[in-house]
Amino acid sequence: MNKYLLTPGPVPVSCETQLAEARPLIGHRGKEFSGLFSSIETKLSGLLKTDGKTVIFPASGTGALEALAANFIGPGVSVISVSCGVFGDRFREIAALTGADMINVDVEPGEGVKPHVAATAVASNPNASVLLLTQNETSTGVFNHIDEIVAAIPQEIKPLILVDGVSSVGAMPCFPQKWGIDGLATASQKGLLTPPGLAFVWLSERGWNAVSKRKCPSYYFDLVRQKKDLFKDAPENPYTPPVSLYYALDHALDEITDKGWFSLRDRAARSLAAGIEALGFELLVKDKRFRSPGVTAFFHPSGETDAILKSLKSMCVEPAGGQGKFKGNLIRMSHYHDVRWPEISLALGSLYAALGDARRGAGDFMRRAYEVWEAK
Ligand SMILES: *Cc1c(COP(=O)(O)O)cnc(C)c1O
Repeated sequence: MNKYLLTPGPVPVSCETQLAEARPLIGHRGKEFSGLFSSIETKLSGLLKTDGKTVIFPASGTGALEALAANFIGPGVSVISVSCGVFGDRFREIAALTGADMINVDVEPGEGVKPHVAATAVASNPNASVLLLTQNETSTGVFNHIDEIVAAIPQEIKPLILVDGVSSVGAMPCFPQKWGIDGLATASQKGLLTPPGLAFVWLSERGWNAVSKRKCPSYYFDLVRQKKDLFKDAPENPYTPPVSLYYALDHALDEITDKGWFSLRDRAARSLAAGIEALGFELLVKDKRFRSPGVTAFFHPSGETDAILKSLKSMCVEPAGGQGKFKGNLIRMSHYHDVRWPEISLALGSLYAALGDARRGAGDFMRRAYEVWEAK
């Protein structure tokens, strides 16, 4: 029996993407691979609306964060970290390991980062040279409006802005060049609808200038080394790339660059949320503006959230549980893949069954969700 995977990474991958991954291997030094690489770069530039290139290397999302930290941050560098959850904390921890001077700003988990919070932190620390942000905080299902945050920062003292986009890119707008981001990290297994294993780093011109003036203490994660091979006419990787994953990614990018993909994700998220609430659950993110189009976190006020999660798993429906302070008290359901009405009703129907006692579920939860779905 296949599990119905609803974890916020890895996310379900289409049959066509799996078939693309199964193609016979090719060598990674030669025209054919360069062609595949170039095709991916063109599609990524379209998705991110950038004219620069994206570094791709085998690692998970944490590896992409580590690459940003290794190239931009080091002993004595003053870094502001704004965190609203487990992944913001992780980026902070990686930065702190380099010996940076950390200025930590914490936002209550479940709440989004308001632009003035980041802007005030920058204004009160005009010597900070780096600001760390998370676009989509996967541990709580918070979506931060990075464009508004960056716009609120005083331009004269704007630090280099490094963004964790591991669970946002692909599923929601993320336009680093347009928004004024200097370093963006992401990975294959969430919004990019590809199996785990690929990490991505995009840098602005200002970002490339900054890293080329520093000596990176890591050989493998040195972005300047990567750049040399990436910016050739026939791009290559300095080290062996996971070629099969490149095939998968090249196909998956066609699925998500379809017009209307972002609004479809948003519509699925809102419809699912309406049904979840009508079933008597509470959404963790109260402010609708900060709800993620990719993952929804909720709990049951009865306190039986963990039992409900176990019950779902026994039905082969697999969302994730809570992390950090929400361990044992949260369900996180992802909707990065092509979730439409059949998938929404499967998720809600299973939740209804997992609730066990029909009296606890409002009878018209499906109709409420369908009304939102139909309203588009
Ligand atoms: C998943 C995730 C990560 C870590 O990615 P791995 O691929 O597990 O290393 C980092 N940040 C965010 C926001 C994530 O969702």
